[in-house]
Amino acid sequence: MPRRCGARPGADAVPLPVPASAPAPRPRRPRLGARLCYRLGALLVPNRLWRGVGRSLERHPSGYRALHRVEAGVKEAAFGCRDCGQCALPTTGYACPMTCPKELRNGPCGGVRADGGCEVFPEVRCVWLVGYERAAAAGAAAGFAPLLGPLDHRRVGESAWVNYWLERDGSPAPRRGALHAGAPR
Ligand code: SF4
Repeated sequence: MPRRCGARPGADAVPLPVPASAPAPRPRRPRLGARLCYRLGALLVPNRLWRGVGRSLERHPSGYRALHRVEAGVKEAAFGCRDCGQCALPTTGYACPMTCPKELRNGPCGGVRADGGCEVFPEVRCVWLVGYERAAAAGAAAGFAPLLGPLDHRRVGESAWVNYWLERDGSPAPRRGALHAGAPR
């Protein structure tokens, strides 16, 4: 009998069932160091310049597509990005929460194993533990994992950078400043 989500971690080794038609994402360890990620991320924080770039790209679909291709390619290689269009990386230690098999965006499930392994893929460390360890190592634990809104599936496949600059990624404005509040200088 499959385990119930939230059962005691490490109680047994039976993985949760995964629908055959939708392979579960697999936690991905980022390929870029956390400090470097926070520094690069700080360069992308919405400001007048980036808002102008975002608005301009929306008027020029070929430019938008080119930027999106670059963004998606770089983030896929570095973080296993799944193109959700509402990037959470600045708040998750730059470990992509969409690589969690359950796509949890507000912290780990109750099934994390005693050794830190993922409930679904026990041989891989929980992406939320990886993210916290990265944030703490970079001195950015204070800004780790504020409560995010639910994923807006209408934005999946859009450029998360443009949505970030144009404040359409579900992060309320006051929280945006806090995203990088704990980031290393
Ligand atoms: S855009 Fe979404 S899927 Fe891609 S890295 Fe950010 S959180 Fe992960």
